[in-house]
Amino acid sequence: MKTQKKITRKPSLARAKKVTPKNKSKITIECNGGFREVGNNAVILDDGKDRFTMEFGFNVSDGIGPLIPEKDVDAVVICHGHLDHCGSIPELWNAQKKKLKVFGTQATKDLAELVLYDSVKVGKLKDKPRNFGKSDIKSVLNNWKTIGYKKPFKIGDAKITFHDAGHIPGSAMAFIEMAGKKILYTSDFKIEPTQLVNGADYKKFKDLDLLIMETTYSSRALDKRNKIEKAFAEKVKETVKQGGIALIPSFAIRAPELIMILEKYGIDFPIYVDGMGRTATEISAKNPKFIRNSVQLKNAMKKTILVKSHEQRKQVTKKPCAIVTTGGSMDGGPVAHYIKYVYADPKSALITAGYQIPGTAGRYLLDTGRYVTEAVDLKVKCPMYNFELSSHAGRDELLQLVKDLRPKKVMCIHGAHCQRFAMELKSQLSIDAIAPKQGAVVEL
Ligand SMILES: [Zn+2]
Repeated sequence: MKTQKKITRKPSLARAKKVTPKNKSKITIECNGGFREVGNNAVILDDGKDRFTMEFGFNVSDGIGPLIPEKDVDAVVICHGHLDHCGSIPELWNAQKKKLKVFGTQATKDLAELVLYDSVKVGKLKDKPRNFGKSDIKSVLNNWKTIGYKKPFKIGDAKITFHDAGHIPGSAMAFIEMAGKKILYTSDFKIEPTQLVNGADYKKFKDLDLLIMETTYSSRALDKRNKIEKAFAEKVKETVKQGGIALIPSFAIRAPELIMILEKYGIDFPIYVDGMGRTATEISAKNPKFIRNSVQLKNAMKKTILVKSHEQRKQVTKKPCAIVTTGGSMDGGPVAHYIKYVYADPKSALITAGYQIPGTAGRYLLDTGRYVTEAVDLKVKCPMYNFELSSHAGRDELLQLVKDLRPKKVMCIHGAHCQRFAMELKSQLSIDAIAPKQGAVVEL
């Protein structure tokens, strides 16, 4: 849901108001993206000397990026490799006269590489081309400085330290010390551990002047992970045992987690991984320090068969099995091939494992029971199940973070209900909380 009028012009032409900080001891925060909406995060911090942006993503639903800063930034800090956090860095790279420094963890760099190149490919296929090309992505990656957790780095005099955000491999919260103030920028986070990653490492932050936090699930609690994981694994097992195919459409970065869950609950049938989920699983395996249990992932991978050819794709549907495949939103990718083999089979099942974004084929399917793309229109007769294996904090975890940290001020971003959540923090916890709109400028 959009709470404000969006830019209708090309994102590259959208520029924010020029800002001249009046007082050098103050920090000016420019709200260029991810305000009162999920997606396109871009939060610019400027103390009059140092100036950088926390992330620079794009909105996956409408393809629109953040406002391009009026004045060049020194650097971009990327907290994880999802497109709504890193998807517009090449655009920023092109828009700047000043050379852009890029900071993020190794796993974030690897995942950003995967999703950025894919976004160019998907943009062309959908006739919604991105306004950058492969060479721009290459430039960004060549200038990316990889940083580990708890290893402080500097942008001018500002000091930044990454801490595990518990969201996806390599995801980070950024602790920022700037102009004598302490800021925690959470990006996307989760406190409860998942099979793939440990929970957020945030408890030791004290005396925060500002907490900039995501609020994706501010209006809804999520069930306990263990409970959802078990139910998901049981449904997959039940489907395969009764002679069907468990078709599991998955976003690439979720694939390694799904195979780990199946491994944990004891698989004794073939599991195939197809599409970009293959690469994301390999990226997770080569970044063991960013995942919770690399031995468990390796064991899961040993029991998994990677599908690498069209011929193999045809073969796998001949016997009962589980197939974890992209695209997670079902708009394209190998899932569009597999669904033809399961949609009319009552023994098979379509098992989704997360939120389906409005406007996608996956969401339309859940709402109407029909799978509609440019190529097909199928009335799905096999059973469908959705398990909400979110890698975001649920409402309870969002409140827990604020209660544990008791910051002087909270800025709620990356959510459709930011304003309501800010009001709740004010009334229930007596904390100064705000939810600025896109384009706003806030002084700290
Ligand atoms: Zn994310």
